[in-house]
Amino acid sequence: MLAAELRLHDVRVLVLEKETEPVSFVRIVGLHIRSIEVMAMRGLLERILERGRQRPAGGFFAAINKPAPEGLDSAHAYLLGIPQPVIVHLLEEHAIELGAQVRRGCAVADFEQDDEGVTVELADGEQLRSHYLVGCDGGRSTVRKLLGVGFPGVPSRTETLMGEMEVGVPQEEIAAKVTEIGETNKRFSLRPFGEGVYQVIVPVAGVSDRAEPPTLEDFKQQLRTVAGTDFGVHSPRWLSRFGDATRLAERYRVGRVLLAGDAAHIHPPIGGQGLNLGVQDAFNLGWKLAAQIRGWAPETLLDTYQAERHPVAEDVLDNTRAQMELSSTEPGPQAVRRLLTELMDFDEVNRYLIEKITAIGVRYDFGAGPDLLGRRLRDIDVKQGHLYGLLHRGRGLLLDRTERLTVGGWSDRVDYLADPTAVLDVPCVLLRPDGHVAWIGDDQQDLDDHLSRWFGKPAN
Ligand SMILES: Cc1cc2nc3c(=O)[nH]c(=O)nc-3n(C[C@H](O)[C@H](O)[C@H](O)COP(=O)(O)OP(=O)(O)OC[C@H]3O[C@@H](n4cnc5c(N)ncnc54)[C@H](O)[C@@H]3O)c2cc1C
Repeated sequence: MLAAELRLHDVRVLVLEKETEPVSFVRIVGLHIRSIEVMAMRGLLERILERGRQRPAGGFFAAINKPAPEGLDSAHAYLLGIPQPVIVHLLEEHAIELGAQVRRGCAVADFEQDDEGVTVELADGEQLRSHYLVGCDGGRSTVRKLLGVGFPGVPSRTETLMGEMEVGVPQEEIAAKVTEIGETNKRFSLRPFGEGVYQVIVPVAGVSDRAEPPTLEDFKQQLRTVAGTDFGVHSPRWLSRFGDATRLAERYRVGRVLLAGDAAHIHPPIGGQGLNLGVQDAFNLGWKLAAQIRGWAPETLLDTYQAERHPVAEDVLDNTRAQMELSSTEPGPQAVRRLLTELMDFDEVNRYLIEKITAIGVRYDFGAGPDLLGRRLRDIDVKQGHLYGLLHRGRGLLLDRTERLTVGGWSDRVDYLADPTAVLDVPCVLLRPDGHVAWIGDDQQDLDDHLSRWFGKPAN
C-alpha cells in the first residue's frame, strides 16, 4: 500500500521482502469499511470486490451477534470477506503497475542512517542506499529492533491454534457440536472452506514456544480437550498458532527510518483489525513521506504521521484487549458480555462500536473546529460522479460550493472542484490526499493558511 502511495507522487520505491514466495496462510476475515473506502479512493474497488464476498458489517465486536444499525455513514457499509494472500497479491500488483520494484528473497539485516540517507545491508551482504527506510516487516520487525525503539506492552497469555485440514465426520455432526461449544467458548470455530477442507481454530491453555509450528497431533489433542472429539482431522493444508500479545512501538519515526503496520503495533486478531490498521497507516504516511522526499512538505508534516496514527493504534489495542476479556469463558467476563450484548440493543452503542472497529469513527486532532474537521469524508455523489473517483491520483482536493475560492499556487498538489454537490452542508472543504477533512470555511486567506499548513509553500 505504501509503495503504491509513494509511486503516485513519482517517488522511486524498492520493496525488500525476505520470503521468496508469497505466504499462503488465510488469516483474515476481511476488509472493514474504512479499508474498502481506501481501496475505492485509489481505484481498486472493482478489483477487490471481484475477489471478495460482501457480508453484513455487524457482528464483529467480540463476535457479539448484533446486526449493524441502519444508515452507517458510508457508501460501503459492508465487510468484504477476502483472504489476506489475495489482498497482498492485489496490492503488490497495484504497486508494480505504478512502477514500484519488489525484490523477493531479500532480508534486511542491518542499516545505518546519516543526515542524507540510509544505508541498508541485506543478509547476503549487499548494500543499498535510500533517502528513507520504512519497516513494514511485521510484529518481530528487524527494523524496529535495530532502531532501538521500545515495544512495550503485555506478552501473550493465551494461545490459539489455527489451520486448514480435512475432517472425518459428517458436516451435520460438526455443526451441532460447534453450536453447542460456541455457547460458552467464543474462541473455538470449525468452518467449512469448500472442497472438504475446514478452517479449525481452537484455543490452547498456556503459551508455548511460538517459534515451533504446531503439529496435527497438537490440533487433535486440543480438539479432544475442548470438544471431546478430534473430528477425525487429517491432511492439513497449513498449521499455525497465534497469541494475544498487545504491544505498541514507542516511536513511529527516528530520523529517516519509520515503522508501519504490525512492526508498529500488535494485538489479538479478534475483530479483524490488524491488516486494516496497517493499510491505513500506509495511507496516512504515503503522501507525507512523498511530500518530504519531493521537497514540498511543511517542516512538521512527516511527524503528524505518528501524532495521528499512534493514538489510533492505542485505541485498537484497547478495544482488542476488551474483546478478549469479553471472550473469556470465566463467569465474570461472561456476565459482562451478556450486559454489553443488551446494551448493544441501543442503536448508539452498537453504532459507536461498529464505527470504532471499522475505523470510520477515526477523527484526527487538527485543532478546534466543527466535528467534521479531522474526520474522513464518506464517498458522496458529485456532479462528476463519485467523490472518491476524484482522489485516485492521491492529491488534495478543494470542494468549493461558493465558487469564489482558488487553490492558486498549490494547483500542482491540490485539485479544485466548483459547486460539487448539494449533499455538503458547509461552504468549502479541503481534503487531504487521504480523504480527511483538513479545513472547512469560505475565506480565501484562511484557506491559503491551511493549504500552507498541509501542502507547503505555493509553487509561485
Ligand atoms: C489468526 C489471525 C487472524 C487475523 N485476522 C485479521 C483480520 O481478520 N483482519 C485484519 O485486518 N487483520 C487480521 N490479522 C492481522 C494481520 O494478519 C496482520 O495485522 C497483518 O498481516 C500485518 O501486516 P504487515 O504487512 O504489517 O506485517 P506482515 O503481514 O507480518 O508482513 C511483514 C512482511 O515483512 C517480511 N519481513 C520480515 N522481516 C523482514 C526482513 N528483515 N527483511 C525483509 N522482509 C522482512 C515478512 O516476510 C512479511 O512478508 C490476523 C492475524 C492472525 C494471526
